[in-house]
Amino acid sequence: MSYLEKIDPRIYKIIKAEGLRQEENLELIASENFTSRGVLEAQGSVLTNKYAEGYPQHRWYGGCVNVDEAEHLAIERARELFKAEHVNVQAHSGSQANMAVYFTCLNVGDTIMALDLACGGHLTHGHPHNFSGKLYKVVSYGVDPKSEQLDYDKILTLAKECHPRLILAGASAYPRIIDFKKFRAICDKVGAYLFVDMAHIAGLVAAGVHPSPVPYAEFVSSTTHKTLRGPRGGFVLCKKEFSRKLDLEIFPGIQGGPLMHTIAAKAVAFKEASSAKFKKDQKQTVRNAQALCSALVKKGYRAVSGGTDNHLFLLDLTLKGVSGKEAQEKLDQAGITVNKNLIPFDPKSPALASGIRIGTPAVTTRGMKENQMRLIADFIDRGLTTSGERKISEIKKEVKALTKKFPLYP
Ligand SMILES: *Cc1c(COP(=O)(O)O)cnc(C)c1O
Repeated sequence: MSYLEKIDPRIYKIIKAEGLRQEENLELIASENFTSRGVLEAQGSVLTNKYAEGYPQHRWYGGCVNVDEAEHLAIERARELFKAEHVNVQAHSGSQANMAVYFTCLNVGDTIMALDLACGGHLTHGHPHNFSGKLYKVVSYGVDPKSEQLDYDKILTLAKECHPRLILAGASAYPRIIDFKKFRAICDKVGAYLFVDMAHIAGLVAAGVHPSPVPYAEFVSSTTHKTLRGPRGGFVLCKKEFSRKLDLEIFPGIQGGPLMHTIAAKAVAFKEASSAKFKKDQKQTVRNAQALCSALVKKGYRAVSGGTDNHLFLLDLTLKGVSGKEAQEKLDQAGITVNKNLIPFDPKSPALASGIRIGTPAVTTRGMKENQMRLIADFIDRGLTTSGERKISEIKKEVKALTKKFPLYP
């Protein structure tokens, strides 16, 4: 970035500082990951200069011969990877992917069912300040108070009562396998569409580490930047019968020109996600989450639902006497990045929260395994239970020594 350094030293310095922060900290935010150099290069390419409203071979602008090929590759690779009937790779984000799906099959005022935010749902699943909560009548389902897992019988009962046009399955903070077949059966009983938002688990699905929703759902949306390890963005898979309507809802429905540099980077990510190495890494991500979770449980922490089947888990900190907010701040000082998170039936406000969410995609991409997870559990426990600047800076030093052994872009 020698050119950038010359023309805008301030932005150059910020990027360098962020690079160092990513290099030296332990990244445990469950929705983050580190893309490959290939993805970074495609994303930072001259494709950002091109306008390409429309779809390959049907553009509103000339000069689209190269970007057409890039988008075509992205579509074909995603179709192959997820065995989908139709793919749209233009959604700028996961939220816009979700908006496009809603607009494809719902009218304003329709009833939808989705997972309660406090139980792991996403803002676009009906939060009152989000478009989803404003445009649709949202009936939330939760988790069972005892098991803290989805209760499919209860979801069916609720669906029979409220007659939703669409049922959404998928979450931002749910540590267990989601049974898409059961969701399909519920939808069939009440005549609802099944929409699966697999933003968090797309990488696991691509690798066959989590069952795929594609055979069961009319619509599947996702981000590309979480477990899937691609550039920041979204995409939608759907059954053939909705393909035209969906494409129209993305463009011209809710977006203008597609981000062709990002679409090229998505194509790179889909190629990488079909490799044997990626499959191995996704398996390791789950093993790491389970190892880190059980090491913390051994130290007296309570894991929501008792553990994890995927890339993340939730720690309930109530018994340790710290809020999620305090925990997030304390760990930040020690060079460990997590986020505060509501736990099911949380008595605290979302700004405080009783828990933290911990995910292993990013540390796994760096090459860390179970042995490092046990070290990290120790860092987290010490970070949350000790106080005093000296002790915190000791942990920070150990974090730095560990991350140094696993360089981000060797
Ligand atoms: C992250 C996420 C999204 C939204 O992704 P953005 O790209 O941040 O808009 C949507 N749904 C779920 C379940 C997510 O976890």
